[in-house]
Amino acid sequence: MPNGTILVVDDVEYNRRILDGLLRQHGGYDILQVADGLEALAIARQTRLDLVLLDINMPNLDGFETCIQLKADSRTRPVPVIFVSSSDESLDKVRAFGVGGIDYVTKPLHIPEVLARVNSHVALYRQQRELEVLRQEQIRYLESIAEIKDKFMRGVSHDLKNPLGIIIGAVETLRESPLTEEQVQLVDIIERKAGFMLAIISDLLDIARIEAGYAPNRAPISLHLLVQEALVGFDLLAERKQINLLVQLPANDTEVNVERHALCRVIANLVANALKYTAEGGTVALEASTEDDHLSIIVRDNGFGIPEEALPHLFEKFYRVPQPNHAEEEGTGLGLAIAKAIVEQHDGTINVETTLGEGSTFSVRLPLHGRNAK
Ligand code: ADP
Repeated sequence: MPNGTILVVDDVEYNRRILDGLLRQHGGYDILQVADGLEALAIARQTRLDLVLLDINMPNLDGFETCIQLKADSRTRPVPVIFVSSSDESLDKVRAFGVGGIDYVTKPLHIPEVLARVNSHVALYRQQRELEVLRQEQIRYLESIAEIKDKFMRGVSHDLKNPLGIIIGAVETLRESPLTEEQVQLVDIIERKAGFMLAIISDLLDIARIEAGYAPNRAPISLHLLVQEALVGFDLLAERKQINLLVQLPANDTEVNVERHALCRVIANLVANALKYTAEGGTVALEASTEDDHLSIIVRDNGFGIPEEALPHLFEKFYRVPQPNHAEEEGTGLGLAIAKAIVEQHDGTINVETTLGEGSTFSVRLPLHGRNAK
């Protein structure tokens, strides 16, 4: 088996013969010969080459121009090109490397040197190709793992949802029978915890669905209505905690083109968090507006704030700030992951500015005319 295939490009037949003999006999290569750049391009596109030895001074298409065209075509780009220059022309080395050459040799050819350079570049190129094959295999492997994980998550989530629904139904039936005070307390716990598990599973399924990469189902909706819908029930919650919940909207209502339920969820998650992680008597302010074809949602609170070391993890699934006042609040650590997934599905961004002990500001910004589900 030959050690590889090399294309020798030179308009002087004698030069081609010298290289042909040398590389065949001493290098064990298969050699293809052509007399000009255009022919070289045609052969390079059709043949799997391991290297091109390219004369510079040729009529029609010279070596530099041939190399530029080889590098411009994705089929021939990776093949290493070594320039061969005559002793009577001063080689423009900067240009040789600039157009994509990997090396050069000068005539009269010093045989051991030419062989050494050719051998090392052919070997290097082969290693590159082997690495690329390995890289592609690794990508396929990782993709298959992600697919299995996704299928597993969906499967398990569905399988858990049903029995949990049955437990909750059974608890409701149980409440209809006479129960002691202790039994009522136990039923409360079962119901609360089963509801909590159901919420985690629904959230996980939602994240998996959003992360599957579907475009959002955008439709125009009034900004006032969107916020109103998102805030249903929150005034009661705020009142219970004596938190001042302020809402600021543009005086003139405007339509926003977003996936209604998804955006409601983002607003609700951010406001719910602001209320949860703010002490009694605090303030939570929601501001929504449009500008430059973008929707902006800002939720400010003067609550617990978030320590700096928590920030890199804040939007990760299941992450909760490990501080006692945070842990006291019930939560799954999925709310911000969902908000981020939805915002990114709308090609937007979500950020937080926060100071421990002083409060946090979550800002969402997303384009109003992005991709849409078909
Ligand atoms: P959770 O269900 O725990 O509220 P999230 O994903 O919504 O989950 O939030 C992740 C964590 O980020 C929370 O557990 C909390 O520690 C912190 N966090 C979120 N919002 C705020 C906020 N407005 N102020 C302080 N901490 C917050």
